[in-house]
Amino acid sequence: MRAILLEGGKPVLKEVPIPKLLEGDVLVKMKACGLCGTDVEKICGQYTASQPILGHEPAGIVEQSTVDWIKPGERVFAHHHVPCYECYYCKKGSPTMCPYYRKTNLDPGGFSEYFRVPAWNVSRGGILKLPDNVSFDEGSFIEPLGTVVRAQRRIGIEDKDSVLVVGAGPMGLLHVMLLKTKNVDKVIVSDVSEFRAEFALSIGADVALNPKKIKVEEEVRKFTENRGVDVAIIASGSPTAIVSGLRSVRKGGRVLLFGVPYKGTVLDYDVSDLLNNEISIISSNAGIEEDMIEALRLISTKKVQVEKLITHRFKLEEFNEAIRISKDGKTIKAIIYN
Ligand SMILES: [Zn+2]
Ligand SMILES: [Zn+2]
Repeated sequence: MRAILLEGGKPVLKEVPIPKLLEGDVLVKMKACGLCGTDVEKICGQYTASQPILGHEPAGIVEQSTVDWIKPGERVFAHHHVPCYECYYCKKGSPTMCPYYRKTNLDPGGFSEYFRVPAWNVSRGGILKLPDNVSFDEGSFIEPLGTVVRAQRRIGIEDKDSVLVVGAGPMGLLHVMLLKTKNVDKVIVSDVSEFRAEFALSIGADVALNPKKIKVEEEVRKFTENRGVDVAIIASGSPTAIVSGLRSVRKGGRVLLFGVPYKGTVLDYDVSDLLNNEISIISSNAGIEEDMIEALRLISTKKVQVEKLITHRFKLEEFNEAIRISKDGKTIKAIIYN
């Protein structure tokens, strides 16, 4: 079968054997797999949060199964990282910090004709069956939307909150879409790309700001009776984005760190402002099965219309083209097909 693998930091289309199943494993034929910003960063060698396996937003059809409750022909989403649900971290509410979480993965990754879902994942709820009304395209958004679901739960979005989303890439836009299902007051987006800022408006953001043209922390105060926003969601790893969020929240405001910064990122920010203004920072790293289930519910009930974010579609053999186009910022979401 064909698979995109990392070789010396470069993605290469290889001919490899179809993975052999052990007891408890499931083999899935990939039908759609989203290209994530972290895939692009893994290729550039700048991703810092886990091992470099490509493709973690897959949906497909079960080809072979060793468990009786999953049958060949069933349409599924598979989650790449699954915690043990038993260790100290899992029991204390930090399951994505479980030592097993990042050791689990799809074999050889989501960008391949077939991938093996290990028994570990299968037995802990890491496979969800897709209802008939959920397409493979939509199924490929379960993982990214699941991480957004968990992040917004952690920061605690409240009624009438005004929210600034810094960074209008696919993750920032999923944040916007999820916020719009809640009773929030205003969703303001900032992005240096005019294309992405416009896109944010088209999917429901109330205001889009371009930090190249205006000072975001001053502009948001015009929309919030001079206070600043209640919550800033940083859907970008850049230090300027993080500082922009810290400076845009009101006194007592909350900042959600969601985008993954490069290793060695240091902020140009006076930390005394945090305490003097009682600003809280919460980070959120990935998601677990309950978040994936909620994401699937939001997608199947059409509350979050994820397919609106798809701007590009590529075949496996066009993978390098997908990376090239994604890097120049003209895409929102690119989906890779078998
Ligand atoms: Zn991702
Ligand atoms: Zn654990």
